[in-house]
Amino acid sequence: MIYADLHVHSRHAFNTSRALDVETLVAAAARKGVHVVGTGDALHPLWRQELGERLEPAGDGLYRLRPEAARRVAATLPLTCAELPLFIATTEVSTVYAKAGKTRRVHHAIVFPGLEAADLLAERLGAIANLASDGRPTFTLDSRHLLEIVLETVPDAIFIPAHIWTPWYGVLGAGSGFACIEDCYEDLTPEIFAVETGLSADPAMIRRVSALDRFRLVSASDAHGPGTIGREATMFRCAPGFGAFRAALKTGVGYGGTVEVFPEHGKYYWDGHRACGVGRGPSPEDGDLCPVCGKPLTIGVAHRVAALADRSAPEGTSRASAETTVRTLVSLPEILSQLHGMAATAKTVVAAHAETLARLGPELRLLIETPLSEIGAVNAALAEAVAKLRRGLVQRQAGYDGVYGEIRVASGVG
Ligand SMILES: [Zn+2]
Ligand SMILES: [Zn+2]
Repeated sequence: MIYADLHVHSRHAFNTSRALDVETLVAAAARKGVHVVGTGDALHPLWRQELGERLEPAGDGLYRLRPEAARRVAATLPLTCAELPLFIATTEVSTVYAKAGKTRRVHHAIVFPGLEAADLLAERLGAIANLASDGRPTFTLDSRHLLEIVLETVPDAIFIPAHIWTPWYGVLGAGSGFACIEDCYEDLTPEIFAVETGLSADPAMIRRVSALDRFRLVSASDAHGPGTIGREATMFRCAPGFGAFRAALKTGVGYGGTVEVFPEHGKYYWDGHRACGVGRGPSPEDGDLCPVCGKPLTIGVAHRVAALADRSAPEGTSRASAETTVRTLVSLPEILSQLHGMAATAKTVVAAHAETLARLGPELRLLIETPLSEIGAVNAALAEAVAKLRRGLVQRQAGYDGVYGEIRVASGVG
């Protein structure tokens, strides 16, 4: 199975880790077991320069670290994780504008056939706004107009509405989105063939909305730091490459499904008010106002999906599992932290994480594919936790209004 993380950011995007340089990104993706990672922020001039200096073409729109840098990074990795990921040119773009009497804020992820194609779009969009100010540039353009520019400039770019349900920046979000994809992209909607689930939604939730049936589902980390690279990913059963991925997303042949976090982990799953400490499931009787401050709550993804759904939750689940493979995970550092009853940053947990990777290899393969007997031979408690995880046996405390939820796999010290 090929794991691809097609939406990440660099240190040049707003609110991201300063540590996110090319080599750190490669090392994090290698430990996670991501085979193809997006460059993120491909329109940003400084990041583009770093990508040019560090990477060389590897065929079909992919890039690899140049040999000297690759040796440097490999020296920091356990031998079991020494397979370095390839890069694919990606960016995220934000559009903010008024339409039909409402302010719209929509994020779009774009995958390019190569860095030169990204340069063409940067040239075009650089005339409209300053691309150096944020790795995820914002344009006061109608989303349809942005898509038109992308199609004119890079006709085979993969254009993906990002985290479609999030309240403030999702195309279907309750705060500043639309009721359907067509209302946003109008006559150009047929050019779109994939949408991103976002952390707070999974395929089962999306398949409750029949209007979304024709879209293939992409999951990605939207990482703002090395620690979250690959927390969500898209699986492919084809050779890695831009053309192969595009065809897989368009036709389904070679598409393998998605790797998800539990949607309750997402920070916009429930309705809530962070400042008031209020987080709750959608409740028609209680209305949409905060019981503490009386102002409107931030409407979460669970509520928004229910509002737009024309199918029941069980029907969404059975459709999603019939059409594709979904792997829902808790990260390895988080599992180890729960097993040890200590913070993921504690010395003991960090050491256990390093040892686990050194003995069992990269995280995604370990959590999804490695036989339990092999894991058990190294760490019996971990094998038990992974067995529970694979069966979905977890306790969930849902996130709301920017607060992450908590998913517990293991109870107590293993
Ligand atoms: Zn975004
Ligand atoms: Zn409040």
